[in-house]
Amino acid sequence: MIDVILKKGKEKAVLHRHPWVFSGAIENIKGKPANGDIVRLMDAKGGFMAYGFYNDQSRVALRLLEWDEAVAVDEQWFRAKVGIAVASRSSILADGLTNTCRLIFSESDFLPGLIVDKYAGHLAVQVLTSGIEKLLPVIIDELQLLLKPESIFDKSDASSRSHEGLETINTALTLSHPPERVEVKENGITYNINIAEGQKSGFYCDQRENRKILAAHAKGKKVLDCFSYTGGFTLNCLQNGATSVATVDSSALAVETLKENIILNKFDETKVTPIVSDVNKQLRKFRDEGETFDIVVLDPPKYAPSRSALDKASRAYKDLNRMGMLLLNPGGLLATFSCSGAMDMETFKQVLAWAALDAGKQVQFIYQFCQPEDHPVRSSFPEGEYLKGLLCRVV
Ligand code: SAH
Repeated sequence: MIDVILKKGKEKAVLHRHPWVFSGAIENIKGKPANGDIVRLMDAKGGFMAYGFYNDQSRVALRLLEWDEAVAVDEQWFRAKVGIAVASRSSILADGLTNTCRLIFSESDFLPGLIVDKYAGHLAVQVLTSGIEKLLPVIIDELQLLLKPESIFDKSDASSRSHEGLETINTALTLSHPPERVEVKENGITYNINIAEGQKSGFYCDQRENRKILAAHAKGKKVLDCFSYTGGFTLNCLQNGATSVATVDSSALAVETLKENIILNKFDETKVTPIVSDVNKQLRKFRDEGETFDIVVLDPPKYAPSRSALDKASRAYKDLNRMGMLLLNPGGLLATFSCSGAMDMETFKQVLAWAALDAGKQVQFIYQFCQPEDHPVRSSFPEGEYLKGLLCRVV
């Protein structure tokens, strides 16, 4: 195994078990590891620090796996980590109302660059590091042993693969291709998922709990679900007795699937107004028409892909939330989210405070949304925390 020597003074994060070592923190390398090889990270005095995946194409040159020198990071090690992650999701699936969740969440499950989502009997895998790419046959074998899935689909088309010098893949790994439509259940609601064509790996299962929490407020309410995708918030609100829901998403495919999902669940189609449009335009249209709502959901895509984009993103979040507030009836609820890792909860609250000022409204934060337990946050890896939201009463 090749030794990688860390620069003096760069030990702290490694000792604190942060799993990333940036290329600038490396003093030298005793050999020529291939990308995706497992190497030993040593301190400047030659003491062992950790084992990790190496990649010279990435800004994160090492992704650390194991801090105990005596533990062999072999096939068994990866099989064990897969097994622990999968077993830890059993409580989510226990009540029979949900059969879709994230089984493996990358660094947060000690497997940097591996994401595995369960869609009923099918699995979608995303591989974001060359280290995991090399070990994929072992990982797939373990998933097959543990779960006996009907299909495993490699959905590794994320743009972050290019940072590791990896090509985009969108293909079935197992002999059986997943069907075009997979039916899954979440909170007792049925959804059609298109694993190959859908966004992300097909469904945003990170909003499972938040959909349920918001829907508890929906009885007898007129709801506006912005960035609805295939209707997660809409369907939960309908199930809980919302009188009407207007949904807005720019993706025609997502809105078509949303319509299918309403029929699939035998909800009253006449209560839903699906709109394919840009949310910013549609909110202004509603304002000009004098349309108002009791509940507004804002679940936009990631506006701040990095810390440097935070200022610009904050302005976009502020404008979006200001418009959302203006469409609320007095005392109405705004459920607003940010999935930008760079935006922390304190900054997000500040953005909401600015939006309230500009809208001439008063806001009470009545609940803080977060990511669910199948998207764990490792204490040594705060970067794994990305989804946050606020339920606001707007007066
Ligand atoms: N709330 C959804 C997930 C939202 S993901 C759920 O519960 O499943 C973000 C969505 O925003 C995607 O469906 C994407 O198509 C949509 N989107 C992105 N930019 C948009 C825009 N400017 N206007 C409308 N929709 C947009």
